[in-house]
Amino acid sequence: MILAFIEHVAGAPTMLSLEVLTMAGRLAGEMATPLEAVAIGPKGAPAAGILSSYGVSTLHVADEPRLAEYAPAAWARAIADLAGRVNPQIVIGTASDRGGEVMAHLATRMTLPMAANCTEIVPGDPFTVTRQRWGGSLLEEAHLKGTIKLLTLAPHALTAEASPSRTEVATGAFSPALDDRDFRVRLVPQVEADTGKISLAQARVVVGGGRGVGSAEGFAALEELATLLGGAVGCSRAVTSLGWRPHSDQVGQTGTRIAPDLYIACGISGAIQHMVGCRAAKHILAINTDPAAPIVAQADYAVIGDVQKVLSTVNAEIKRVKAGEPSRSPA
Ligand SMILES: Cc1cc2nc3c(=O)[nH]c(=O)nc-3n(C[C@H](O)[C@H](O)[C@H](O)COP(=O)(O)OP(=O)(O)OC[C@H]3O[C@@H](n4cnc5c(N)ncnc54)[C@H](O)[C@@H]3O)c2cc1C
Repeated sequence: MILAFIEHVAGAPTMLSLEVLTMAGRLAGEMATPLEAVAIGPKGAPAAGILSSYGVSTLHVADEPRLAEYAPAAWARAIADLAGRVNPQIVIGTASDRGGEVMAHLATRMTLPMAANCTEIVPGDPFTVTRQRWGGSLLEEAHLKGTIKLLTLAPHALTAEASPSRTEVATGAFSPALDDRDFRVRLVPQVEADTGKISLAQARVVVGGGRGVGSAEGFAALEELATLLGGAVGCSRAVTSLGWRPHSDQVGQTGTRIAPDLYIACGISGAIQHMVGCRAAKHILAINTDPAAPIVAQADYAVIGDVQKVLSTVNAEIKRVKAGEPSRSPA
């Protein structure tokens, strides 16, 4: 049996968890074994409907109110407790901040090796994985040992794909044995403003800004473009280091990994640590004054020019078209 560790927000599995279910479903098919899932906090288990379209036969939900808030060691202990009962061949989670942390705790608790950031998994003996190293700039092929194979799936290693067929999902609650010491590190209640904005990780269009945007105020043009296109604003680490945008907007190795249909990179040089975060974008459009900037070579389209001037023209043109006025662009 394969056990997929699902992260969810109020019952909706995250995009990365759907990718994990897709990979876990493929492995279950190859290994002719059932796919089961485990969900831990926050309130509300993922709806059986969505899990059934990913081939899950059983959903295990931890019945322990203290697990509603994030507590990595406690979450890992709950999964270890479940693994002891159901004896999976593989436990697979996301390589998100939380997924990676919980799976690392799980590996320590079970004294098993874990392969992080896998992009390909070939079950068998040897059990072979390809995984991202050095922020994705290197791919490593490795053999994973251990009685239970513990893995995290690199973000956007594949596209989440629901199956047209449905499975019957049985839901079972389990009560893990926990100790107060498991909660030494935990998330205390947080207040989140409902900004109504599209999240960076889920956005189909991302407008990213780098040092070339010039100032925090310079992001107004990027905000406007993102609003016009129904997208989200991201940024480089140079920008967060300068205090122009919060870290939650950062794209890259130490920020969010995005997978939009279109990434518009404005005044961003294209350092490897940034590109790791946007390599899953279907198309990249770079706006940069420097035709030799590394991002220009990696982009599908590039506009060489000052970002504020380019965006002012582009935004005005989109507004004109949206208002039904004739376009001023050359026919
Ligand atoms: C361990 C580690 C982790 C890191 N993690 C991340 C990460 O997660 N994300 C990340 O982004 N970086 C990360 N970095 C930093 C990364 O190496 C780069 O320093 C950073 O991405 C550079 O940001 P930038 O492109 O905005 O700035 P710069 O490299 O300074 O580039 C600015 C660009 O703007 C262009 N420009 C200037 N003026 C204009 C203008 N008026 N109009 C248009 N273009 C203009 C320039 O030609 C240049 O290409 C990390 C570094 C390390 C060591």
